[in-house]
Parts: sequence; C-alpha cells; structure tokens
Amino acid sequence: MLRVAVVGSGPSGVYTAQSLVEQTRVPDVRVHVLDRLPCPYGLVRYGVAPDHEKIKSLQNNLRAVLEHERIGFVGNVEVGARGVTPARLLELYHAVVYCVGAARDRRLGVPGEELPGSYSATDFVSWYSAHPDAVGNGFGVALAARSAVVIGVGNVAVDVARILARGPEELHPTDVPQTALGALAQSRVRAVHMVGRRGPSQAKFTTKELRELGAMPGARVEVDPADLALDPAYADPAGLPAVNRRNVEVVRAWAADTAPDPRERVIRVRFFLRPVEVLERDGRAAGVRFERTLPDGTGGVRGTGAYEDIEARLVLRAVGYRGVPLEGLPFDASRGTVPHAAGRVLRDERPSPGEYVAGWIKRGPTGVIGTNRPCAKETAASLLDDAALLLRRPVADDPVAALRAWGLQPVEWPGWLSIEQAEAALGRTLGRSTVKIADWAGLLEAAGAPPR
Ligand code: NAP
Repeated sequence: MLRVAVVGSGPSGVYTAQSLVEQTRVPDVRVHVLDRLPCPYGLVRYGVAPDHEKIKSLQNNLRAVLEHERIGFVGNVEVGARGVTPARLLELYHAVVYCVGAARDRRLGVPGEELPGSYSATDFVSWYSAHPDAVGNGFGVALAARSAVVIGVGNVAVDVARILARGPEELHPTDVPQTALGALAQSRVRAVHMVGRRGPSQAKFTTKELRELGAMPGARVEVDPADLALDPAYADPAGLPAVNRRNVEVVRAWAADTAPDPRERVIRVRFFLRPVEVLERDGRAAGVRFERTLPDGTGGVRGTGAYEDIEARLVLRAVGYRGVPLEGLPFDASRGTVPHAAGRVLRDERPSPGEYVAGWIKRGPTGVIGTNRPCAKETAASLLDDAALLLRRPVADDPVAALRAWGLQPVEWPGWLSIEQAEAALGRTLGRSTVKIADWAGLLEAAGAPPR
C-alpha cells in the first residue's frame, strides 16, 4: 500500500488525490487530504464569492472525491512550524504533496498602505467568506465609507467591487456569515472605484465576471471614455486575444451608454492610473493618489507626472496573491513558489524523495479552478513514476493515530459533516439557507473537537 498525504483540500489538493486513486498503474494508493482548517475545499469555500452559487456548487464534485473509499479527510492539522513539520510527515506517509496555495496578498509598496481603512482584498474576501482567521477585522467600521477604491482590475477586484455594490437582499440567500451580512446591510458605500494601472485591453478580469458588474439590480457601471482612448488597442481590438477583445467590447458599451440610470450605487471602472500613495486623514485612509500613466509601447506603462486623487475611506488592494514559505520546505521568494521539476520538490536543485507540489504553490497564483486539473495530473504522474522507490521506506500503520499521539486533534470526515449540519441548522434559525460558522470555537465545537 502506497500512503500519500496531500496537504491542502482546495481544488488542487482534491484533484491530486483524485488523480492518485483513479489510476491503475500503482495498485492500492491511499490518500489522506490534510487541512489546517476543520473544513475542506480551500478557496472554493473561502475564496469563491458567495453570490457565485454555480462555482460554489463545485463543492459537490470535490465532496464526491473526498468520499472515495481510498481517500480520507484529516482537518485541523497544521503543517509547518506550529503543527507537524514536513520531516515528521514523511515518517507517516511515503509521499507528501503540498497543495497549500498562495495564502497572502501581494503588497503595493506605497506609503499609507497599512493605514486603518486600507485592506488587502483577500482580508475582505476572508471576512465575508467566514474564514475563522478573519473574525473581527474591522470591516463593520470601514463600511461607513461613502466611497471605496479597489486597486487592480483582476477577478478578485471584480468580486470585491460586486460584493460592495450588492444590496442586502441580494446577499441574504447566500451563505455569508450573519455578522458580515449585518455589516454589509448597514454599508454606506455608494461609489466603488475599480482602478487599473494599465489599459482595458490588458486587464486581467475575465469577460463573464466583468459583464456581471453591469447586471446588478442596484448598481450601475460608469466608464470614462477619456481613459479608454489612451489604449492603442481600444480603437481596433481585432488583434487582441479573445478574452481581452471581449473585455474591451464590454467597457466600450458601458462608455457609450449615457442614458440616465436610476440605480443607486455606482461602480466606476478606471484605467491608466497607478497608485502612488494611500492618503490619510484623522489617522485613517482618506483616498488614493494615482499617477496618470500612458502605454510604453511594450505592454507596460510609464508615468506622466500628472496626479489624480480619488477620495475613499475604504481602500481594497486587489493586486494578486503570493505564496508563503512553509517552514521545512524550500521556497523561491522571488516567485513565491516551491522550486520543483514536474511537481517534484527540488532541494539544492535535486528532487527531494517523497516531496511534491501542485496548484498555486507550484505554479503561482494564476488560472481558473480548472487549471488545477492538468497541474495535479502532472504531479500525480511524477509521484506514481517514483512509487517503487517510495515504497522502500517504512511508514506508520495509522497516521491519524500518530498525529493524535503527537498532540494534534484531527477532525475527520464525520466531524466536517457535523459542521455542515450545524451550518444548515444555523441558517434555519436565522430564516436563511445554510449560514457559515465564522469562528474557530464554533467550528471545533460543531465538529465535536476540543477547543484550541
Ligand atoms: P490577477 O488576476 O493577477 O490581477 C491582479 C491585478 O492587480 C492586475 O490588474 C494587476 O495589474 C494589478 N496589480 C498588480 N500589482 C499592482 C501594483 N503594484 N499596482 C497596481 N496594480 C497592480 O490577480 P487576482 O485578481 O488576485 O486573481 C488571482 C487569480 O484568481 C486569477 O487567476 C483570477 O482569474 C482567479 N480568480 C478567478 C475568479 C473567477 O473565476 N470568478 C475569481 C477570483 C479570482 P497588471 O496587469 O498591470 O499587473
């Protein structure tokens, strides 16, 4: 029997587990999918926006994999300095695949970035997604702002702009935790400025997500034609890749639409503005100073020395994720990934026996959920190629018992199912559908595990 641990139960981890058991090359592969949280599904549970029910329903596919007879979920187990180290994990499993994603936000590196009222979008996403580490991070106060700036024009920027612009009645049917729903219902934000440093033809959002901004019952979209005119590809987008061309067509239609629109909130999509400072008033963020940019002819932009301030008491930086080092594993700080060859972790440029990576920690934080499938398959194929070698090393008979003996409190599948039931029950008492439990104590209690 080949025993494998997959660390991380998001899409890349689950697809890796699936690739390992749904093959005939190596018989009897057993996989434990470990997670730091007592809940599975990673960014599908804690990153996909609550109003994206269709993508969220992917949880059902992931669930079917985690219920496979040769796969077990082992939550509430942290791997790294504070939990079980990579070296100790190799005492329990023949191989370990790290699918730990990219847990932090990229920094802007401008003055004022850390002011109260200026947050990473990932913090905001974690808060409305009920991530237990995001409890009490002050968004209730920040939502007293009338105007918000979202820096970046990727899909995370679109997600947070949309959530800010939704009315409470639109969020009520989702699984947003009750405190976040209450705070969003009280939100005074009426204008959301979503700002890109380059042009519409270079924006990172996908067209379906972009279009959704224009289809909300309570918010209209405004685009400044003067911003668009700076983009050389705007006049004739025919030569662009399909997604960029369609994006340009969507913003073009918005810019051309000058009919009065009674929708109360507004999302202003801006381009060619590079953030240079988060402005301060009374110790809190008061706006963002941007430098006007122009295309430099090579796909980038150059500054013009002209500045524009956008007033905002709430600033969300949606400029991408970055991987964080996991103590005991090598890390390439410049790329924010673990060095690897076809998924095999490299130590001093040589494959480290029994250690693998898949997903964002392998290739960086790009691509949609489906991108993780081929990525996971490649890693699983490398691992299966190595199976004969891996099987030579003896490992523990019962890894979960060993984890308990080491003082950890694993939450297995029945514990997670109890959390699910508790969230359904919470929803019923609140007159809503399932409502997520947002704190560690509540999750562990629901799972029947001891408190931390
Ligand atoms: P992203 O797609 O990489 O977009 C980052 C944005 O931030 C870009 O507009 C980038 O501009 C800008 N940016 C980076 N550094 C900046 C700086 N210093 N100053 C100003 N702007 C800066 O990242 P993301 O939005 O976090 O998304 C991560 C991944 O998750 C993507 O693959 C995305 O598609 C995926 N995702 C998908 C969905 C969905 O399918 N619904 C939802 C959320 C996330 P430049 O282009 O100029 O660098």
